[in-house]
This record gives sequence, C-alpha cells and structure tokens, in this order.
Amino acid sequence: MPESDVEVVVIGGGAAGVAAAKRLTDASVRCLLIEARSRLGGRAWTVHDADGHALDLGCGWLHSADRNPWAGVAQKIGFTIDQTPPPWTNRPLETSLSRADHRAFRQAIDGFYERLEEAAKRNPDAPASTLLEPRSRWNPLLEAMSTYISGAELERVSLKDLDNYDNTPVNWRVVEGYGTLISTYGAKLPAMLACPVSAIDHSGRRLKITTRQGAIAADQAIITVPSTILAAERIRFTPTLPDKIEAASGLPLGHDDKLFMSLDGAEEFPISARLFARTDRAATAGYHIRPFGWPVIEAYFGGACAAELEAQGEAAFFDFAVAELVGVLGSDFARRLKPIRVHRWGIDEFARGAYSYAVPGRADRRAVLAQPVDDRLFFAGEACSLHDFSTAHGGYLTGVAAAEGVIAARNRPRPIRNISR
Ligand SMILES: Cc1cc2nc3c(=O)[nH]c(=O)nc-3n(C[C@H](O)[C@H](O)[C@H](O)COP(=O)(O)OP(=O)(O)OC[C@H]3O[C@@H](n4cnc5c(N)ncnc54)[C@H](O)[C@@H]3O)c2cc1C
Repeated sequence: MPESDVEVVVIGGGAAGVAAAKRLTDASVRCLLIEARSRLGGRAWTVHDADGHALDLGCGWLHSADRNPWAGVAQKIGFTIDQTPPPWTNRPLETSLSRADHRAFRQAIDGFYERLEEAAKRNPDAPASTLLEPRSRWNPLLEAMSTYISGAELERVSLKDLDNYDNTPVNWRVVEGYGTLISTYGAKLPAMLACPVSAIDHSGRRLKITTRQGAIAADQAIITVPSTILAAERIRFTPTLPDKIEAASGLPLGHDDKLFMSLDGAEEFPISARLFARTDRAATAGYHIRPFGWPVIEAYFGGACAAELEAQGEAAFFDFAVAELVGVLGSDFARRLKPIRVHRWGIDEFARGAYSYAVPGRADRRAVLAQPVDDRLFFAGEACSLHDFSTAHGGYLTGVAAAEGVIAARNRPRPIRNISR
C-alpha cells in the first residue's frame, strides 16, 4: 500500500494490534500495522521443540475461555482447542503437598480473596500484602502465587486493581500454540515488520510517524505497545502526553518467564500434573508436568525470583528448577531433565516485562491510558483493560474497542481547521 494511502496506523502487532487492524480492515479502513519485531504476536510467541510440540513462551492459556474471543477465532480458523482442566485446578502431587495441606492452602486462598473483596470497597487503595494473615504458614505460597498472577509480590500490587480482574473458571489451550493463533490471524494484514516506531508528531493536520524504515503519514493511530515502552518514552510524542506517561508508569509489567524442559520417563506422572517444590518461600517456580501429555515440564517463574534469574542468564533457570525438583523427587531426577527453551521477557527490548499490574493507588490509570487523544490517537493493549488486563483476550478486546473508536471518529463531522495558519 503506498504510504500516502494509509488512513490509520496501528503500532504494535501483538494481540491488541492484530485485533485492531483486523477490525479496521473488515470495515474497509486502509490501515497499516507497524511492528518492531520481525514477527507478529508480541508477548504471544510459540516455538517448537525437536518433536514439533508447540511451546508458548508467552501466553498459553485461553483464560475465561467461555467468553474469550480468541477461542472463537481458533475455532473459525481451524485450530485445535484442548479443554483439559488447568493444573492449578488439580490437586498437586502428594509428594509435594499432602491432601490435608492442600485443603488448608485452598482455605488460605479463599480467605485471601474474601478479604480482598471487602477491602476493595474501601478507600484508600492499599498494597495487596495488607490482606495477608500475620504469621500464616501459607503466606510464602500466596506470595509465590502473586508473582505468577501479577508478576510481582503482593506489596507492590494494588488491591483494588487485583479485585477488578474478572475471570470465569474456564481455561483452555490451543494445541498449535496461542502465539501461532494470533500471528496466523494477523498474517494477511498489511504490515511492516522489523520496524520500530520512535516518534509520533500529532501537531500537524496529519500524523507523522517516525519509524526505522522512514516517516509515515496517517489520519489516526492506534498505539498498542506495552506500558513499559510508553513509560520509558521509547516513542516520543509531539506535543508530549504527560498523562499517558504517568498512567503507564503506574501500570508496570511484572516479571514472569517460562522454562520448558524435556523429561525422560514422563509416563510415570499423570497428564497435566502439578507440583509444588517449596511451600516455605515466595521464590519458587510452579511446575506443570506433561502438558498435553507431552514429555515436557513447563516451569513458571515470577516476581523477584524471575528478575534475579534473568540477571544471571538463561542457564540459571534450569539450574534453579533442577535444584528445586531434586529436593522433592530425589537426586536421580536431575538426569532425566534437559533444558529446551526459556525466554527472558524482562530484558526483551520490545516487552520489558510480562504483563501489567497496577501499583497501589493507580488502579484508575488503566482508564486514563485507554482514553483517546483528540479523536486521532487511540490506545489499546492489555494494560488498557479494566477487567481483563494481563491477558491476550484483554489485548484483543481493547484493540477492537480502539478500532471501533477510530471508526466512530471517522464518521463524525470533523471541525473545520483553519489551514492558513
Ligand atoms: C510468560 C508469560 C505468560 C503469559 N501467560 C498468559 C496466559 O496464559 N494467558 C493470557 O491470556 N495471557 C498471558 N500472558 C500475557 C499476554 O501474553 C499478554 O497480555 C498479551 O499478549 C499482550 O498483548 P498486547 O497486544 O497488549 O501487547 P504485546 O503482545 O506486547 O504487543 C505489543 C507489540 O508492540 C510491539 N512494539 C513495542 N515497541 C514498539 C515500537 N517502538 N514500535 C513498534 N512496535 C513496538 C511489540 O514488539 C509487540 O509486538 C503471558 C505473558 C507472559 C510473558
């Protein structure tokens, strides 16, 4: 498409950007997706092991699957949905947590969420750590859960924001990979890849968007880059948008990383087994054994633990996981494991973290971030979602909402500008 024909530029080709560009294209709006990476999908990224199994380094679960638009997309384009209940609904392996302890831990979780619901009705906002019961033996594990859910320990997380998260108990997976689903959905959209945007000038009649491959003019833009990119001003706005930078700074991305390992003799374990390695510290990984029945372990690291391992290098994740697993399953277990793949999202140049949480007192910044500017700059991405933040379907829904906003603005009579000035 000649550059002069572009009506709307969509910046960022993850879940939100792909959904936005698809909605605009379906409405015959001439749009162009501009993506910094050499692939679509963003934090949705599927790679394959030597046996061809699809491993999701980013999002893997269709959370709230019964109302998740990606589930409908998967069905429509012929992907395979696996409805095996997720490991966190299973009882963990008895070797790692006894039945009685598991029951006690579940009660601790229920108590935490009951206190959360009550506390969220009150002002002011507070760190979610204020909801922990003093001296409960389950606090380290609740902290570990927080690092998987929010990417950060409870003291850094707004309790009001945590309470705003809305999900149904239905969680499915895409056998071909969530990342592949999203990139396939976007594959036919007009796009420029490997093309980071560095500046958006919205002072003139048309937007001027500076990219690594030159400047592009457009009427409107949908900006879907992660909140970290906006907060760090990796895209310069002229005139500046201090409210957006302040809002994005209150919605950082936490740390979460997955390590995939191959497992010899995997049949010893039930399919989709769950294992706790430690219950006495927050710095512990969550282990999902035999996802889809494959001879693989998916280890999930969050919060400060993930950040520290990222700083040490990729090999540190495997060393950490082996040490933890050996502690529960015996020293011979180490010989059965081999690392396959890990990705460090915190040092990923175009993500700089995993998914957004609100710091205490900033839960309302999601709405500020999502607010359009002058009917010309629209914002989307998981951090803009009030209730589905941190997810790929939250990204989708904000992308479509921004595209609808663009379409509505294009149909409104425009103010006559005095172009002689
Ligand atoms: C380890 C991990 C596990 C997860 N698990 C789940 C899960 O099970 N279920 C779930 O729903 N979600 C999960 N998520 C979260 C989910 O992946 C994200 O919420 C979602 O993919 C975000 O989509 P987005 O479009 O908002 O942002 P992104 O996917 O980050 O898309 C933004 C795009 O902008 C691009 N970009 C950045 N800077 C520029 C620039 N200057 N110019 C142009 N382009 C730029 C990026 O490359 C990226 O492609 C997980 C994430 C991680 C990291």
